[in-house]
Amino acid sequence: MSFLDFIFRLFKSDNNEHDAATRSNSDATQTSYRGPEIGSLDFSKCVYCQAPLIKAPEKRTKCKKCGDYIYVRKRPSDNKRVLLKESELNILEDQWLSVNDPEAYAEKQKVIERLSRENGTTPSKAETDWEWYKSLLNLYAQNGHWGLYRNTRLNMATFLSENKNPGEAALTYLEVYYLDLNGSNNANGFDKSMAMGLPWMYEEAVKISEESGITKENLKERFLERARLLKDKLSLPVDPNTAWSKMEKGKDK
Ligand SMILES: [Zn+2]
Repeated sequence: MSFLDFIFRLFKSDNNEHDAATRSNSDATQTSYRGPEIGSLDFSKCVYCQAPLIKAPEKRTKCKKCGDYIYVRKRPSDNKRVLLKESELNILEDQWLSVNDPEAYAEKQKVIERLSRENGTTPSKAETDWEWYKSLLNLYAQNGHWGLYRNTRLNMATFLSENKNPGEAALTYLEVYYLDLNGSNNANGFDKSMAMGLPWMYEEAVKISEESGITKENLKERFLERARLLKDKLSLPVDPNTAWSKMEKGKDK
């Protein structure tokens, strides 16, 4: 998956039609997908209750009869727009993942197999995603793909925030900002000339920390502690204190 595909995944909104369209249009090789077809090509009926739809949905639409949400996405099997149930969105996301990033998809399948074996039951999406991110970090670190590594840490920050772990989420956002100031990339690891920090990460970290009673001073301490470890482990060029003052000022490099 390209850097942009990752970004689109990170910032996808409730109606991520743009996301689906961007990915499928950018990749004309739809024939590479060999999995099952998903969704309905019949835009005149609700996918849940089969009630007739007055207008063909163009984006997320609530069925007037049953009240459930109908989603519109492109599917990779034939690149056609289809109607989907909410429960099918994750399946479709995995289908696109298998096309756009076969390496990450294969990691995910391995994680699901392992968790299923260990738990004796199918793992939840949250459990799968978390373990998947961890195995991707390993993979990218081994291969020196520090741009993808950084993207995965950002996915983890979002995950932590959504799963009610604000302290760790805040720290992870700062860690990503720090990696960005160090110019993490897939070509040569860390290169200050490629620094590209995103100031919103600092603002988000401070916001969610304060909401959960962590002071800025305390956040700073925790960040410095973690950043020093990272700097040692990965031989990062930027000093943690320097990074903190850049982040406070909202600098991008
Ligand atoms: Zn319906």
